[in-house]
Amino acid sequence: MKAAVLEEPNNLVLRGTKDPALVPGDLVIRMRSATICGTDIRIFRGRKTMGVRYPSILGHEFAGEIVDTGGRSGFSIGDRIGICPAIPCGHCHRCKRGAENLCSEGMNFGYEIDGGFAELVRIPAKAVDGGNVRRLPDGMTFGEAAMIEPLSCVLNGQEQVNLGFGDVVVIIGAGPIGLLHVLLARLRGAVRIIVSDPNAPRREAALSYGADTTIDPTTEDVAARVRAETDGRGADVVICAIGIPALARQATELAAHSGRISLFAGFSKGDTSQMDINAIHYNQITVTGAFGLSRRNFDDAFNIVASGRLDVAPLITGRFPLEETLRAFEVAESGAAIKVAVEND
Ligand SMILES: [Zn+2]
Ligand SMILES: [Zn+2]
Repeated sequence: MKAAVLEEPNNLVLRGTKDPALVPGDLVIRMRSATICGTDIRIFRGRKTMGVRYPSILGHEFAGEIVDTGGRSGFSIGDRIGICPAIPCGHCHRCKRGAENLCSEGMNFGYEIDGGFAELVRIPAKAVDGGNVRRLPDGMTFGEAAMIEPLSCVLNGQEQVNLGFGDVVVIIGAGPIGLLHVLLARLRGAVRIIVSDPNAPRREAALSYGADTTIDPTTEDVAARVRAETDGRGADVVICAIGIPALARQATELAAHSGRISLFAGFSKGDTSQMDINAIHYNQITVTGAFGLSRRNFDDAFNIVASGRLDVAPLITGRFPLEETLRAFEVAESGAAIKVAVEND
């Protein structure tokens, strides 16, 4: 089969590689859509190495159709499916404590096992048995199904930071993740959504997705604008949707008393940040992290998209065939598109 193989950092090659080796009970799907995540770019550039193998096939946001049922009943060739890419072990301390997204012994597509930037993807029996596979309803496209993974992560982030009715929310960064935060925050009852991003088209996109106002941090004082927009109180929830360490400090300046901060975006290996610890202490600010997704997050996000209440389709603004995966990565890295999908017929 053809696949985009990451040979080593900065070396992604489209080449032939052996078809996935099946164990009975596994499924094989033909990838139809795989979207590029900011994490894929950080891995490609060597800024994230944890859990990454070389050579390997990246891609944890994908959907496709079954081409081999592995002898399983209940599945047919041609079934259209979406996949929750995190396969927890179920028995480690973190899994047992209800944080399977942090599983220390699990498998993840695009990391420990090969992912979506390939013609064919093996879905291990453990994932099928574990409920990681969902059949797509008729109205759901493969691209929308691929977008359920990032939406699941965003859902986890908003649950961790307890975003809900009546909250004034600041979202720093209007990339695909920031925009998903806008869409979901509206659905969860945020009363005002303020988005900061230096990129004008992205600020426009944020407004069209439901942000109430935007800030250009290159020309405006973000903290002053947020105070002006919130009667001097600051934001109930601040979400860092871009992994720039200085923004973690900025978040403490934007949060209201008893506000909550989500350090949602991943940072580069070794990054640290000096946060205003007096603001955190005296203003009683809660700082939360968020990583990955659980199968529950995936199901919830899947059901939100299937219900039609949250439309992820417009986020995909770049599409490339599998043969042009490298070009797709370049476009995703440039920021010229919102979300870039690699597609396969
Ligand atoms: Zn991702
Ligand atoms: Zn585990």
